[in-house]
Formats: sequence, C-alpha cells, structure tokens
Amino acid sequence: MKAPKLILIAVIAMLIGAFFYFGYSDFLTLHELKTHQAAIEARIAAQPVATAFVYALIYVLVTALSLPGAAVMTLAGGALFGLLWGTVIVSFASTIGAALAFLAARFLFRDVVKGRFGSAIRTIDAGIDRDGPFYLFTLRLIPLFPFFMINLVMGLTAIRLSTFYWVSQVGMLAGTLVYVNAGTQLAGIESLSDILSPGLLGSFALLGLFPLLTKKIVEHIQARKVFADWPKPAHFDNNIVVIGAGSGGLVTAYIASAVKAKVTLVEKHKMGGDCLNTGCVPSKALIRSAKWLAQHRRAEEFGIRQSSADFDFADVMARVKSVIEKVEPHDSIERYTELGVEVVTGEAKIISPWEVRVETAEGSKTLTTRAIVIAAGARPFVPPIPGIDSIEPLTSDNLWNLRELPKRLLVLGGGPIGCELAQCFARLGSLVTLVEMAPRLLAREDPEASEAVMASFRQDGVDLRLEHTAKEFIIDNGEKILIAEYDGNTVRIPFDQVLVAIGRAANIEDYGVEALGIALSPRKTIATDPFQATNYPNIYAVGDVAGPYQFTHVAAHQAWYAAVNALFGTFKKFRTDYSVIPWSTFTDPEVARVGLNEQEAEQQNIPYEVVTYGIDELDRAIADGEAHGFVKVLTEPGKDKILGVTIVGEHAGDLLAEYVLAMKHGIGLNKILGTIHIYPTLAEANKYAAGAWKRAHAPVSVLNWLRRYHSWRRG
Ligand SMILES: Cc1cc2nc3c(=O)[nH]c(=O)nc-3n(C[C@H](O)[C@H](O)[C@H](O)COP(=O)(O)OP(=O)(O)OC[C@H]3O[C@@H](n4cnc5c(N)ncnc54)[C@H](O)[C@@H]3O)c2cc1C
Repeated sequence: MKAPKLILIAVIAMLIGAFFYFGYSDFLTLHELKTHQAAIEARIAAQPVATAFVYALIYVLVTALSLPGAAVMTLAGGALFGLLWGTVIVSFASTIGAALAFLAARFLFRDVVKGRFGSAIRTIDAGIDRDGPFYLFTLRLIPLFPFFMINLVMGLTAIRLSTFYWVSQVGMLAGTLVYVNAGTQLAGIESLSDILSPGLLGSFALLGLFPLLTKKIVEHIQARKVFADWPKPAHFDNNIVVIGAGSGGLVTAYIASAVKAKVTLVEKHKMGGDCLNTGCVPSKALIRSAKWLAQHRRAEEFGIRQSSADFDFADVMARVKSVIEKVEPHDSIERYTELGVEVVTGEAKIISPWEVRVETAEGSKTLTTRAIVIAAGARPFVPPIPGIDSIEPLTSDNLWNLRELPKRLLVLGGGPIGCELAQCFARLGSLVTLVEMAPRLLAREDPEASEAVMASFRQDGVDLRLEHTAKEFIIDNGEKILIAEYDGNTVRIPFDQVLVAIGRAANIEDYGVEALGIALSPRKTIATDPFQATNYPNIYAVGDVAGPYQFTHVAAHQAWYAAVNALFGTFKKFRTDYSVIPWSTFTDPEVARVGLNEQEAEQQNIPYEVVTYGIDELDRAIADGEAHGFVKVLTEPGKDKILGVTIVGEHAGDLLAEYVLAMKHGIGLNKILGTIHIYPTLAEANKYAAGAWKRAHAPVSVLNWLRRYHSWRRG
C-alpha cells in the first residue's frame, strides 16, 4: 500500500481511537443528550451560528468516520435547532459526512477489491451503471440498512460521487425529518426504538421500493408501446419464425423444434449460410490443401530426400467444393424437416411484429408468429475506395468460384479472414501482397502473437505492407495498381486480383428492419438487450447481424438464448453469457484465445500476472517438427484464477479447449497441473504452462524450511 493511503488509515485510526479512548462515545447517547439539553440550548441562545457550525462539524466527523451516534446527533439537531433548521443542518452534514466516508472507502479499498474480485466487481459496476441511483435511493429510504455501511460499500462501486451525493441527500430526507421531528419532542422519547414504529418502517420500505418498481413498470410500458401501431392477430401459425438458415438460424430452429414449438425457418439462398458455403468450411478446406503443400516443401526436414507436388488450382477448389457437399447434409432442408422444422425457401420480410411475408418461387405467403428471430448474417464490407468498382474485387463471397490461381494477389486487410486467405494463396503459389493500415497483423491479439504470424508469412513469401493506407485503384497501361499511402509517401502496388477482407457489414436492409424501426447499434448491427431481444420484445436477433462477435459458435450460443427467451421468456429469461468466448485464427501458426490478453488487460486497467510456456520445449512439438509458439496465461494477481489464455502454435484452437472449460467452470491452474495429460501430446503444453505458474508461486519460505529439514535429516 502506498504512503498516502497508509497516512490516511493512520489518521482515521487515530481519530476513531481517540473518540473511544477519551470517552466521547459516552456523550452520544440519548441519556447524555437529555441531561445536557438545557446547557446546550443556553449556548445556542448566546452564539447560534457558531454553535450550529460546531454541531454540523461534529456531525460530519461522526458520519465520515462511521462512528456510532449519528441517530442521537440527529435527535439533537431537532431538540436544539427546531424542525426546519435542524433538518437543513442535519441533511447537509449527514450527506457531506457520508460522501467523505464514501471517498475514503473508494480511495483506500476500491483498487484492492477490484484486484481481488475483478470479474464480480465488473458485474456489480455494470448493474450500478444501469440501476445504481435507484438501488441507492431504496437503501437510503429503508432505515434497516445501516447508514455507514451504505457509504462504505458504495465507495467500492463505480457510482459517481455527484450521483451518490444527491441521491443520498434526497433519499435520507424522509428519515432525517422523522428523527429531527422526534428530537423536537425529546422529553417524550425513552429509547431510539420508540421513533420508528413497525408501521413507519413499512411505509419507508414501500417508499424505497416505489422508484424501482416505477422504473420497471415504465420500462415494461415502453417495451409494449412499440406494439401500439400494429394490430395483433387473434391466432398465430407459429411460435417462432426464423429468418436465415446460417449458424444462428439453424440452431435457433433446432432448439425450438426440440422443445416441440412450431417453428418455420426461412432461407433465401443456401442452407448453412456463410459458414458452410463461403466462410469457415471452404476456408478451412483450402487451408488444408495449402498446408499440405507447405509441409511437402519441408520434406527434407523430415528425412525425405525428394518429393514432388504437381497440382492444378482448379482441383484444389474442386476439393473445397466437395468438402462443402459432404457437410451440407448436416444443414439440409431434409434434416431440419425431419427434426420437425418447417423450412421455407424464399425471401423473408417482417411486415409487423407478428407477421413475416415470404416471397417464394411459388408466390408470396404470410406467416403469423408469436416471436421472430432474425439471423440474417453479414456480408463482406467493400470500402468506397475510388476505382474499386473497375477492378472487380474478390471477397469471401465470390472467391470460391475462382478456378485459376491469381498470379499476383493483393489482399486488403490483415484481420483473421485476410490473414488466413493470404497465407493460403501464397502457399498455393500466388505472389501475395498484404496491405494493412495497422503496424501489425491481427491487431486484437498481443504483439508476440502477431509477430509469430508475421514471421511465418515472411517465410511463405507474403509481401507484408503494414501501415499502408489504400487510397485509389487505377488501371495503368492495362495493369491494375493500388495507390497507397505509407509514411507520407505514395506507393504503387501492381496486382492481378484483389481480395477485400477489411470487415463484415450486418445485413440490415430490405427485410423490414427500417420499416418497423428496429433499433440499430452504433456499429450498424441490430441492437439487442442482454436477452437477445430487439426494441420489440418479441423480435430477437442473433449471429453476425447482431454481433458483437462474428463467429459461428457465438451465433449458435446466442441462438440458445434467443430461442429459450422467445419461447419461455414469460416465465424466466436468460441473459446471454459472454463471460468465456473463445476463438481461433487458423493461420499457420494458429492463434487461439479465450478471455483477456495483455493488451486488453492494460487497456481496461485490470491487474494481472502473466506466465508463458514456450512450445519450442515440448517433446511432441519437437518430434513433429512444429517446435514453435507459446501458451500464455493471464491470472488474477496472487490467485489461481485464469483471466485469459492465448495459444500460438500447431492446433492452438484445439489446445485451447482445456482452458475454455477451466474458465467456464472456475477451474484454476493447480487443477490443470494435477490432471494427467497423455505423453507425448501437444496438450501437455497446457500442463507445462500451469507448471510454470506454479513455480512462479512457489511458497519460498516453506521450501527454505524444507531444505533445512532435509539437511537436518541427513545429519
Ligand atoms: C472466410 C470466412 C471464414 C470464416 N471462418 C470462421 C471460422 O473459422 N470460425 C468461426 O467461428 N467463424 C468463421 N467465420 C464467421 C462465420 O462464418 C459467421 O460468424 C457465421 O456464419 C454467422 O452465422 P449467422 O447465422 O449469423 O449468419 P449467416 O451464416 O451469414 O447466415 C445468414 C443467412 O440468412 C439468410 N438471409 C438473409 N436475409 C434473409 C431474408 N430476408 N430472408 C431469408 N433469408 C435471409 C442468408 O441467405 C444467410 O444464409 C468465417 C467467415 C468468413 C467469411
């Protein structure tokens, strides 16, 4: 603890000690007050302003130091200054004292509590941000909650001082009035408990709950207000209509049908959405072929003198297509129909909160439904760079139709999709130039993760152009050229084809979102509450169209919440749990992460300890010729609590699963270390990282004693 904090603790301790040591606590009793009332009144008559000032000062001190006696002081306020002035003085003095106690608690302990109970405090802070003033008001009004405790506990939360001050002053006013008024008839009071009858306590409790209840009722009315313009059908054909049969829509429909709801799934294009047709599946199939080629080039490393690889890019793409075809049945109309889902091929449009019109090849039909789940996905964002239309850019949507390998491929964007595809094409034989505005690839990951990927890209021959900003596309003498800006200079980068991979835009147009006024987030995705509901309580959104993550497994995760809340929300609603979200970028090496990395912990001011295990030391990785990468674990300082893990290396995405499970179920590194891992596997890296953490936390003094003990045993 730093010196200013120690000094403050010492001052507070001295003042509290003095209060008890010199017997001031005996003065702040009802009996003493009655005994000295006449003398004090005489003093007030002589010096009213000065006495009021001294009284207020003592009041502030008593409350700021959380000393017992505030109730008696309040009675004294009434007895000495009357109802009006007593209330005014007590109201300000008690609130100022409360604010000082609040500030002291915050200054001394907020960091410690944040460090120790980081995730719990973050949840509380989020709640305080939402409902803090209401809760504080309730606590202040109900005199059952001790005054000093509220000051100290609130100091540990993120509530603003100004909010704390005014809510406290207003919230305590009723109680202050009751006590000050009682003080005006001091002679009749025999004990403090005489002041608050059970009836009065009950009224306070009701008063305290009133604002919270009002807030909830207002929220409910506001939520229902959006329905005002839309006549509600008397009968519904469906419990849920799902728009889009990608990862989010399929899982929503699956869950709804599993619990016997009537669900219709509408898809305008291909079942399986992006993941199956243009995303995860084809990209991973292409990565496999590219990786095979890269490994084959390393033949000598593995003791193979000669190896040749003759291939045609069109065959590689044919394999990609065949992989899609093999997975297709999992997402097919037949499978979902068998599961009890009604699948409609056609374009859906929401025409009211309870009606979806579908344009099919056979004509249009209107489905009525109690709830709608929007799972309309996203599409590649093509930036309005001058000249981009004239060069027919490739995106992750149309890339899969290529049958001829681009000679010189320019990849725009160093995020996960750009990186995965850039490396693939380089390994397949394209001359790849990757243009990225940021100073490194995969900028969300820690610098050493980016560094590992960039080193591998350089080995694969990718021309990395970092800190380059694309300005214009031109065609010069029949050659396509990107004009970019780098370090204040203009750079010309010639290419044959360009792949744009700079992000994905949510599909929010042309199916009723604007017409109904479904609210959007600042990122132009559909805004959802913690239950996946939009501003229409019966319309939900999941997956890429809603964000904040754009992964298949997150779309599926959200789908569970949307389906369950849509069907059973009347009884119980579930908040989407984003506490443990893993992901992986399938470059070589893979970069997999769950929870915080170092740069995020620093940005969010979250204290952490870090331990890193280098996979270059791992037996299996050495045997496989893949001895590179690392497991990096962030933990709460001094505690066996995992805050986040980054793994870089071969099969990092698979290795991460153990840590995902651990974080989800509150398992620490001690337990991972105590779990048998098969030798020799890559998974042992997880155990060794836990071992490195354990060594860093070895109980040094115990070990010193053990050394002495063994030495004594040896004689
Ligand atoms: C190249 C690439 C690689 C990727 N790799 C991975 C990966 O390795 N791992 C991972 O987790 N994620 C990956 N992703 C992301 C993943 O594909 C998406 O997060 C996921 O597909 C989102 O699912 P979704 O259900 O939200 O949307 P989508 O899969 O896009 O499905 C939306 C569906 O809605 C339909 N639709 C839209 N509007 C209407 C309408 N009005 N009526 C009827 N139907 C409509 C569309 O036709 C589409 O089929 C990758 C993405 C890309 C582009």
